[in-house]
Amino acid sequence: MKDFRGLLLTLLKRTLYIAMGILLGVVLYEFWLLRDVTPSASEIAEAKKIPAGAIFIDAIDEFPHPGSLVLWTPSGAPVTTVSETLLRYPDSVFCISVSNGRVTELGFAPTKIPADGFLVIARGVRQLDVKPDRISRNDELQLMPNKKWFVHKPDLAYRFSELKVPLNDLRQRLKNETTTTKETTTAAQEFMRKTLERLDAINDEIDTAQQKNPTLKQIQELRARVEEEVIAGELLLLGKDALPENEIRAVLVRSSEKSESAVKTRIQRLLKAGFNTIILEAFRWGGSINPQTNQGLWNSQPSDQIVMPISSYANLGNDYGMNLWLWVQNGFLSKGKLPAEFAKPEWLMRTAAGSTELGKKSEWLCLRRPEVREMLVKSYIEMVNSSNATCLAMDYLYNYVENLTESQGFCRCDYCKEHLAEIPMNPQRQNEELYAGSEELLTELRAALDARVMPDDPKTSAPRVDIAVFFNDREETTISLPLEKWIGMGLVDWVCPMSYFKENAQGIAKLAKQSSLLREHLLYGVGKHDDAYTVTPAEYARQIMNVRRYQLKGYQFFQAELITPEVQAMLGNTVNAAPAGTNRANSATLTKVDLPRPDELRGTWIVGKSLQESPEAFARKLNMLKQSCINTVMLDAWYRGLVSYPDSALAPFDPAIAATGRADAYGDAVKAIHDRGMKCVAWFEYGLFVGHDAKGGAEGQARQEFMNKHKDLISLDAKGNPDNNVRNFGVFYTLCPSNPASYKLLSEIMLEVVRKYPVDEVQFDRLKYANQTRCYCDYCRQTFETETGKPLTSATNAAEFLAWKREKNAAGVKILREALRAEKPEMPMSSYATWPSEMDTVAQSWDLWLQRDLIDYLVVGAYMDFVGTMAETQKLVGDKFGRVCFALNAEKLSADELINQMNIVGKSGAKGTVIWYADVIPLLLRRLACEEK
Ligand SMILES: [Zn+2]
Ligand SMILES: [Zn+2]
Repeated sequence: MKDFRGLLLTLLKRTLYIAMGILLGVVLYEFWLLRDVTPSASEIAEAKKIPAGAIFIDAIDEFPHPGSLVLWTPSGAPVTTVSETLLRYPDSVFCISVSNGRVTELGFAPTKIPADGFLVIARGVRQLDVKPDRISRNDELQLMPNKKWFVHKPDLAYRFSELKVPLNDLRQRLKNETTTTKETTTAAQEFMRKTLERLDAINDEIDTAQQKNPTLKQIQELRARVEEEVIAGELLLLGKDALPENEIRAVLVRSSEKSESAVKTRIQRLLKAGFNTIILEAFRWGGSINPQTNQGLWNSQPSDQIVMPISSYANLGNDYGMNLWLWVQNGFLSKGKLPAEFAKPEWLMRTAAGSTELGKKSEWLCLRRPEVREMLVKSYIEMVNSSNATCLAMDYLYNYVENLTESQGFCRCDYCKEHLAEIPMNPQRQNEELYAGSEELLTELRAALDARVMPDDPKTSAPRVDIAVFFNDREETTISLPLEKWIGMGLVDWVCPMSYFKENAQGIAKLAKQSSLLREHLLYGVGKHDDAYTVTPAEYARQIMNVRRYQLKGYQFFQAELITPEVQAMLGNTVNAAPAGTNRANSATLTKVDLPRPDELRGTWIVGKSLQESPEAFARKLNMLKQSCINTVMLDAWYRGLVSYPDSALAPFDPAIAATGRADAYGDAVKAIHDRGMKCVAWFEYGLFVGHDAKGGAEGQARQEFMNKHKDLISLDAKGNPDNNVRNFGVFYTLCPSNPASYKLLSEIMLEVVRKYPVDEVQFDRLKYANQTRCYCDYCRQTFETETGKPLTSATNAAEFLAWKREKNAAGVKILREALRAEKPEMPMSSYATWPSEMDTVAQSWDLWLQRDLIDYLVVGAYMDFVGTMAETQKLVGDKFGRVCFALNAEKLSADELINQMNIVGKSGAKGTVIWYADVIPLLLRRLACEEK
C-alpha cells in the first residue's frame, strides 16, 4: 500500500515537472516571438528618417504590377505609354504627371513623360496613396535623393481655388437646362430648384471657410460635399440623354394591377423613366401568376390576389418596344399552398430527420427529381408561350434552406438518399452535387426553349428566349452557384446579383475583377433591399454610374414601387424611352469569333495544376476546348524545376500531381487530347527558370534538390546574387541563359518527354535572361573575356553586352533545335516570345531565332499593347510573319475585345492565336463556338 502511494506521488511529481516544462517552453516561445517582431535599433533609426508625407516607391522604370507604385523617368522608362489594357479598368491604375516637383495632371492616360519630372503610376491598393483625396493638382511631389520615396506637400491655396470648379460647372449646366428645356416636368423642375439652392449654400460655406485658413481636412470635407452634390446634379441630367446603346435598364415588377388600364399606367410610367425591360413576377410560392395556365398552379393564389395576366403586360410592353422577362422562383413553396394535384409529399426536399420544413415557413421542391423538373419546365414554357417573354429570370436556384445544415445543404428525400448515398467530401464535387438539380433544370429548360417553333409555322424556330439567374451575393448562407460554368455551357445568359445596397461599387468591383468576362453577362442590382438606408435620387445616380463605369451590360432596379414620381422624373425627365424594337436585351446579339482559316492555329495552354483534376473534370475541360474551335493544346510538362510526368531521370515529379495517386496523368491527358482530334504540344512552361520561392513543403524541397544538383548553372547578377525578385510573383532562380550547358539540360528534359509521349510538337517558354542585371556568373565572365578581350563587369558597355547575350541566346535555341532534329526530324518546335518592347530588357533574340530558322514558329505575347505588338513584330520578322502566333490574355480582356483581336489576327496573315489560358475557355465558349448547336 505504501509502495503504491510512493508510486502515485512519483507519478504526480513527474506530471508536474512535464507540465512545468511545457509552460516554460511556451513562455520561452512567446519571448522568441516577441523578439522576432520587435524592430531592431537600426530598423527604428531607418524608420525615423522617413519624413511625414512620404510615399514609398516600389520600383523605377519598370512595368507597374498590380499593387505597386512605380515612377517612370524620362531617361529610363521601358515604354512610353501605358497600354490600353491597363487603363481599361477604371480602378486598376492611376497616373500622375509631375513637372518641376509639382503635380500637373492626374488620372489620365499618360502619353509622355515630362522632361523635367516623372510619372507616378499606381496600381491596386497603392492607388489609395495617390488618389485625389490625397494628392491634387499643383501639390509638391519631391523625389528624395535615395529614390525610395517622394515627399508630398499639399498646396492648400490652390486646392481651395479648385473646390468651386465642379460646383460652378454644374450650376451652369443646370441653368442651361432650365432655360432650354420646355418639356421638363414639375417634379424635375422642383428637384432642380432645390439642387441650385443647395449649391448656393455650399458656395457660401466655402467663402466663409476661406476667411479662416482651413486645414487640409476641412477642405477635404468640403470637397466630399461638393462631390455629393455634383453626383446629385448628374442624376438630374442623367435622363436628359437617351440610354447608351444596348444598356439594359430593367425593373422588377410585382404584378398587382387589376385592370388593363392600370397595367397601361404602370408601363407608361416605367417607360417615362427610361426602362426598356420589365422583369415581371410570374411564379411565386409555388403558383403561377397567370390565370390562363393549364397547369392548375394558378389555384394556389387567394382570390384577392387575382391580377392581370402576364400577357397583358407583354402585349402592352411589346407595343412600346419593351422587353418582358418572367421572374420565377424555382421550387420554392409556401408551406401547404401547393395545389393538391402537385402537393406530392415525395417531391419535397427533406432534412436528415425527414422534416419538410426548411426555414422561413417554406417547403421546397427537390430539383434533383426528374418529374419535378419536368413539371416546372412545362409550366415555364407555357408562360413563355402565352407572354412573348424574351427571358426567363430564374430565382432560388441555390439551396437557401436553413434546416439543411446538418446534412451540409443536401436534401435527404428518398430520391436523394438513393441517388446520392454519400455526400462527397471533396469540396468541388460537393458543390457540383449541390447544384446538380439546378443544372439539370437549366439544361432541360434550355432544350425546351430552343425546341419552340412559331405557332403559325412549325418549320420556323421561335425567337430565342434568354435565361437569367438571380442570386443574393450578400446572403450569409454560402452560395457558390457555378455561374461561370453555366455561362460557358450556354445555360445562362444574364447574371443578376441582388446587391441592392449602398456599397454596390465594391460589389461590382469584386465581381467584375473576378473575371472581366463575367462583366458582359452582369446586370447589377440598383435600389434598396431593406429599410436600413434611404436611397436618395443621388444614390440611384451613383449606383447607375458605377454600373457604367465598369462597362456592365446594365442594371435591374429593385423594385417598381420605389420609382417615385421624383425618381421617374430624374431618370427620364425629357426623353421617351427607346423606340420599339431597339434595346432588345437578347444574348443572341453577342459577337462571335470568325471560323478559323484551315491553316490557322487556335491554341490554349493547360497549366500543370490541371493535371491534379479528376479525369472527368479534365475531360469536361477538353470538350469545351474542342467546342471552342481550339485545335492545338499546349500541355505543361516542365515548370520551375519540376516535371508533370512520373519517373523522370532528370527532374523531380511535381509532388502535388504525385499526391493524386494516378499512375500517369500526363500520359492520360495526351491521349484525351488526341482522342478529340486536337494537337498536343509538350510545353516547357518555365524554360530556363528553375526555382521559385512561392511554395515550401514537398514542392519547395523538390525544387531545391534540382537547384542543388545544377548550382553551377545558376545565373548571377553583378554582385553575385542568384535570386531574382520578380515583383508580386516571388523570387525566381534561372539557369544561365548564356551557357550552352543550360540549354543542353533543357534539351534532355525535352527529349525525355518526346520519347515517353506521342506529342505532336514541343513549345518552349522563358528562354531569356531574368532582366538587365544578368548574367555575371563565372561562365559569363570567363567566356565574355575570352571572346571580346575585355573583362565583364557592371561597367561593361551595355550595348556590347546586349549584343553578346543575344548571340548566346540564339546559340542556345540552336542547341534545342538540333537535339530535337536528331531525335524527331519532323517535329515542329515553337516558343513563347516576349513583346518587342521587352526583348532587349531580357536579351531574348527571337528575331534572330526566326531569321536563322532555329524555330518553326513563335507565340508573341500581345498582352500589353496589342496593336503596337503586332506592328513591331511585323517590322522585326518581315516575310516570316506567317510563322508568328499572338498570345492574348483572356483573363484581362473583355470577351468582345478578345474576339475582336482574334479576328484581326485571323485576317492579318499571322499563324494564329493562343489564348491564356484553358481555364477561362468555358466562359468564352459561346463566343468561340465553331458552330451553333
Ligand atoms: Zn431530394
Ligand atoms: Zn551566366
